[in-house]
Amino acid sequence: MFNRRKFVEASFLSSLGTFINPFKTSSEEEFIPPVLGKPVVLSTWDTGIAANKGAWEVLGKGGRALDAVEAGVMVTESSQNCCVGLGANPDRDGFVTLDACIMDEFSNCGSVAFLERIKHPISVARRVMEKTPHVMLVGSGAQQFAVAEGFPLEKQELSPEAKQAYENWLKKSEYKPVVNIENTKSHGPFAPQYLENGELNHDTIGMIAMDAKGNLSGSCTTSGMGFKMRGRLGDSPIIGAGLFVDNEIGAATATGQGEDVIRIAGSHTVVELMRQGLSPEQACKKAVERILRIKKDKAKEIQIGFIAIKKNGEYGGYALQKGFSFAVKTGNVEKLVQAKSLI
Ligand code: ASP
Repeated sequence: MFNRRKFVEASFLSSLGTFINPFKTSSEEEFIPPVLGKPVVLSTWDTGIAANKGAWEVLGKGGRALDAVEAGVMVTESSQNCCVGLGANPDRDGFVTLDACIMDEFSNCGSVAFLERIKHPISVARRVMEKTPHVMLVGSGAQQFAVAEGFPLEKQELSPEAKQAYENWLKKSEYKPVVNIENTKSHGPFAPQYLENGELNHDTIGMIAMDAKGNLSGSCTTSGMGFKMRGRLGDSPIIGAGLFVDNEIGAATATGQGEDVIRIAGSHTVVELMRQGLSPEQACKKAVERILRIKKDKAKEIQIGFIAIKKNGEYGGYALQKGFSFAVKTGNVEKLVQAKSLI
């Protein structure tokens, strides 16, 4: 298991457990945007370290960002012990349902949602983008398309960890959100996922990359919130919410409570704020502030994190609550960054 501490670059604790004034403008604070140059890949949470290595297999050889963001998150989808892909927690009826989307430098995009028994939803999303006139396929239609494209239909069975978590959840069947941050030890329906050794994992990976030519792409894949209502979709398969790429400006992706990311078209908002001149970190922060203004004191119950890359190579991230990390990789930098947060 990856040792988190080794990769932690810096810890930025904000506000010592209290809300910042959501009406204070970001320009009142000094931002020094980090610039890494290209190629560069960013992805959400600790699992991003391994995923970034997968993306680097492509980026490091001068490959296209689109291929990199697909290959990168496939690492996470394949990891049986993880939260993303078929090993993840099921919905409240006991079925694992997967959502994913992908977007390239030409604003081509593809998405699948409520997809069952397919190991690599991100690759199906790419096929939707490349082989159909549509952007989004869901449910049995998405599965039918995947099978027609040659994706094997996997067995419908829970991983041992997910089975255990589901049995625990069934004891109470509580349906209330739990803050999706590190060291949260809850098993509520929106609870994050745990590895055998008790380390926390997360149920989504969002990845954004800029290749050696300066082109941007992004991917996002998830099992959604654990023990969600059957049929529930979050932000992750929704272009503009869980992911957005504009090759002239930048790329952004989101994690956390999808309902609230959708409410502000989160990733699109971050890219548009960068278009207005904000740095990636400032843009992510503004988007999170917007959610805080909407949720008010209920914001304490949820987690939201955004990451972004700007066309000039700047990158950054921001979260609602502390505990959100993102992984960064270039030719000579590989690190996990603890994002700043409002709460
Ligand atoms: N955003 C995902 C969803 O709402 C969950 C997550 O990122 O943890 O489905």
